[in-house]
Amino acid sequence: MGLSDIQARVAKACTKAGRDVADVQLIAVSKVQPIERVEHVLDEGHRLFGENRVQEAAGKWPALMERYSGVDVHLIGPLQSNKARQAMELFSAIHSLDRPKLAQTLARLAQELGHCPDLFIQVNTGEEEQKAGVRPAEADAFITECKGLDLPIKGLMCIPPAEETPSLHFALLRKIAERNGLSGLSMGMSGDFEQAIALGATHIRVGSAIFGARVPPHAG
Ligand SMILES: *Cc1c(COP(=O)(O)O)cnc(C)c1O
Repeated sequence: MGLSDIQARVAKACTKAGRDVADVQLIAVSKVQPIERVEHVLDEGHRLFGENRVQEAAGKWPALMERYSGVDVHLIGPLQSNKARQAMELFSAIHSLDRPKLAQTLARLAQELGHCPDLFIQVNTGEEEQKAGVRPAEADAFITECKGLDLPIKGLMCIPPAEETPSLHFALLRKIAERNGLSGLSMGMSGDFEQAIALGATHIRVGSAIFGARVPPHAG
């Protein structure tokens, strides 16, 4: 466990898949982690992080960005429309675009702010009731709608159901991306990032394998 171990495993998985390691971005998911652990990974030179809540990220990253240069933080969790402006100012990418209303809000704000983070459309590949994301059958239409709004759609993102074989979901996500001409694939977490790399992931989101187990926010 730890950053260098994960970097080594990423490199190995890339070699095995015949891919260039520069084509796979390692997003260190720092949500809920104690600040010392985050600083440690920053001190090791890592600069790309992921957070799943706007509020938590806003309380943590502006100060860290003043101390460390070249930091990029990606939003990987759900985004409410009323936090969209704050998210666009803080994150260099948003991986959770999942509905028309949010797409319209982002498009309007992009006009107003003159910039927009890279966007990934979240696909609910497992069609789980409780999970965010567009259903696979609706993905093509939503991607077209987002492109029509001139949004910078970089690729697709998925979180496979915990109890299913992740590879099937990664393959489905890749298929949807390919037929829509999208090159970005945000898929793979601590338990399955090697499989995701084998299936073409361009962005892997790894938390506990880098930082250690997350301490629950409301423990005790
Ligand atoms: C927390 C989280 C991760 C990282 O999970 P680990 O299993 O700790 O690697 C990745 N993606 C999303 C969307 C998350 O919320």
